[in-house]
Amino acid sequence: MFTKILIANRGEIACRVAATARRLGVKTVAVYSDADAQAKHVAACDEAIHIGGSAPKDSYLRWERIIEAAKQTGAQAIHPGYGFLSENEDFAQACAAAGLVFIGPPASAIQAMGLKAESKRLMAKAGVPLVPGYQGEDQDPALLQREADAIGYPVLIKASAGGGGKGMRRVERSEDFAAALASCQREAINSFGNDAVLVEKYVLRPRHIEIQVFGDSLGHCVYLFERDCSVQRRHQKVLEEAPAPGMTEALRQRMGEAAVAAAQAVGYVGAGTVEFIVEQPGGYEAPEQMKFYFMEMNTRLQVEHPVTEAITGQDLVEWQLRVASGEPLPKRQDELQIIGHAIEARICAENPDNQFLPATGRLAVYRKPACTSFERGAVRFDDGVREGDAISPFYDSMIAKLIVHGEDRAQALARLDAALAQTHIVGLANNVQFLRHVVQSPSFGKAQLDTALIERERAVLFDQDRLGLALTAAAAIAQQLQAERAQEGADPFSRRDGWQSHGLMQRRFALDWGGQPWQAQLQYGRAGALQLALADAAGAPVAGGLLTVQAQGAALLLTFAGQRCLVQVDVEGERRHVFTPQGAGSIGLRDPLAHAGEATAAAGGLNAPMPGKLLSFAVEVGQHVRPGQVLAVMEAMKMEHSICAPQEGVVAELLYAPGEQVTEGAPLLRLE
Ligand code: ADP
Ligand code: ADP
Ligand code: MG
Repeated sequence: MFTKILIANRGEIACRVAATARRLGVKTVAVYSDADAQAKHVAACDEAIHIGGSAPKDSYLRWERIIEAAKQTGAQAIHPGYGFLSENEDFAQACAAAGLVFIGPPASAIQAMGLKAESKRLMAKAGVPLVPGYQGEDQDPALLQREADAIGYPVLIKASAGGGGKGMRRVERSEDFAAALASCQREAINSFGNDAVLVEKYVLRPRHIEIQVFGDSLGHCVYLFERDCSVQRRHQKVLEEAPAPGMTEALRQRMGEAAVAAAQAVGYVGAGTVEFIVEQPGGYEAPEQMKFYFMEMNTRLQVEHPVTEAITGQDLVEWQLRVASGEPLPKRQDELQIIGHAIEARICAENPDNQFLPATGRLAVYRKPACTSFERGAVRFDDGVREGDAISPFYDSMIAKLIVHGEDRAQALARLDAALAQTHIVGLANNVQFLRHVVQSPSFGKAQLDTALIERERAVLFDQDRLGLALTAAAAIAQQLQAERAQEGADPFSRRDGWQSHGLMQRRFALDWGGQPWQAQLQYGRAGALQLALADAAGAPVAGGLLTVQAQGAALLLTFAGQRCLVQVDVEGERRHVFTPQGAGSIGLRDPLAHAGEATAAAGGLNAPMPGKLLSFAVEVGQHVRPGQVLAVMEAMKMEHSICAPQEGVVAELLYAPGEQVTEGAPLLRLE
């Protein structure tokens, strides 16, 4: 075993690797960028080396600098995590040349699996079933068009060098092919520096089922069963679980053996994942009819590896370290078995109700459920951030991974829902409530899985406020009263209780909920009894009744309008964030007396919703635009985002040139 390794990554995966290394008595070296000087992963390691600026190309992708850091600190091996340099064969080679062990497969295996088209050609030879399609070298657009027509629509154009859900275009009709091809090639060259594409039949209602494989340097290779990653948005994973619902023993074995064959065809060593797309010709009810096709192999540790750790009882990072130091695989195939059911949810800084637009900001409140970290447990929470940390625009938007393990799927599901309810994030848009809605959706509950699940369940996933105005408002007002009481302390002259001090019997609040104004009136009765009445902006009553509040630790137990609920409320300026076991919500709360005379700022203007790069304008000066029309395309956090017109107008001026960096809130163009 190594005595010291360098972790060439950041965030949760760097912390994850450090945890296992520490348990095994292996010292760790962190590397960090400017933005990460105070990051959790730096504190998690024994030593840390600064390697450059915040942008990945100035730090985490600078492999000469990273190799130098390893030599300087006496590390014997480098763990690349996922993303960044993990699938870079030049880096793997450079490590070897510098006398360092790359904790991953041989450079030749990375290269063989690095391009989707080439790897498919290789897999065809190894007898692994492939999605019907064209993966030839000839990239003549007319030829690609003919191939697509022959495959039959819909087809999927994929950047051969693509990854992370980028560089894919679904095409419905032959006449749309040429434009989709051009746009896919553009994204491919920009993102991956390679515009080669392949064309595949678009499998309808498919499942994404992948097999975890592991090889050692002695020529052994095993599979650690499957993970179902069908719940996706933008071709990116949202929930991952194992075992795959409906999986039969026979199919598991066939897929496992195909994955091992794929790995062995490229001389694989270390952790890898063979991704299959699975057709369900018999629908959800006939899983035995499922047909699987090779999609790609990820030659690294996968984000969702904890799901496999949960159901196998193995520590995959430990396996990686052992195999990389020359030891044989810790287990033989016949020694591996599945225990219970595990599900992972990716908690991301993004706004699901606005096309999953990534968000940046500070984790003003960050409360987690009772959990383990980086090791197995009924509830495991892996992250690389702490309360107060920023989610910056430089790296991807994943905040944390929540992994639950239960005896069966129903228990895992219940644990996931409960743990999500106890995950409280304030300060930036996030998908925690959205994840709860997915977990609670009929399709997910019944394990009717396919990659269109989120689309199909739209109605119960987006723009949901399950808590409702009454409870949210009652909780916000209860918290306000509680905070005032705490502030007043024992001083009788500062009491703000309406009845006793001001001689007031009533108090009003202006509320802002669901994008609309509402009003609340609080009536103080005898012996501290409170009556709360809620009305819309015009004064029409919407809810009312006795409000009772009781402190319970950091939470409040309240009853209002026939509901009884344990709530936790966090204050962010004038907004109150309300968390309850039933759901969460937020509401603006204003005491109009405290704000008399303040002008309200008018919204408007076309500003960058986040920091990033302006890719292109879709309009010209002088052009008349309709609300919702795409005006510009930005790239931020590794994704492209369309910026739409907030209102009708005429484009008066374009304020940036394509390719320029823009800061958050910067005006992009002027509309008149
Ligand atoms: P997994 O298949 O392990 O679930 P993802 O596809 O979500 O992984 O990607 C894992 C990590 O690697 C994420 O941080 C993702 O943003 C990053 N990533 C994957 N492929 C690329 C790529 N080609 N370019 C940049 N980042 C990538
Ligand atoms: P990436 O390298 O970006 O992970 P993949 O080839 O693994 O690219 O595809 C990502 C996702 O896109 C898959 O999980 C699946 O949801 C979808 N997908 C890929 N190929 C197909 C296909 N032929 N038909 C339908 N969906 C597909
Ligand atoms: Mg993939």
